[in-house]
Amino acid sequence: MKICLDAGHGGADNGTSGNSILEDAWALEFVGRLKHHLHLHGVETVETRTTDKQVALATRAAIAVNAGCDLFLSVHCNGVKSNTADGAEAFYAPVGSYKNNSLGVGRELIAACVEQGLDNRKVKPDNESQHPSLTVLRKTCQHMPAVLLEIGFVTNKHDSDLMKNKVWRDKLAAALALAIVT
Ligand SMILES: [Zn+2]
Repeated sequence: MKICLDAGHGGADNGTSGNSILEDAWALEFVGRLKHHLHLHGVETVETRTTDKQVALATRAAIAVNAGCDLFLSVHCNGVKSNTADGAEAFYAPVGSYKNNSLGVGRELIAACVEQGLDNRKVKPDNESQHPSLTVLRKTCQHMPAVLLEIGFVTNKHDSDLMKNKVWRDKLAAALALAIVT
């Protein structure tokens, strides 16, 4: 099994921020942990970025497709004006032959997040995200299951306290890796 891990944003694009968490840096660090845990299960990984740099969305998808990956997983976190919104949510493209697999993987990943103390905001079609569609999903979903996971809200105290906790991050990475391989 080969998995493409996509740490969202990077370089000049910091993504969202709050409670002293910058999304791009957080996602990159978390992808490193996820990679470690997937390797423990003998899963091969390909990363769209391993440093703090900007990578075009189409390039991220091309990396996964060209490597012949079995799953594309984009890691993000949420941030909004209100500090009450919280929880984990996932998006998938509701098109193509892998749409049910993507939904299934999304549900497993959300279940792992909920097990680690995040609220369940469910798996949704990507047109219910802040965009009409998500490029990284649309450009990978014809080739492999593809999921974009939003791990918690940096703007929420409960979520950001967890997200800043290294022990929690490692537990969540282990749980997500297990959800992926089983
Ligand atoms: Zn993001």
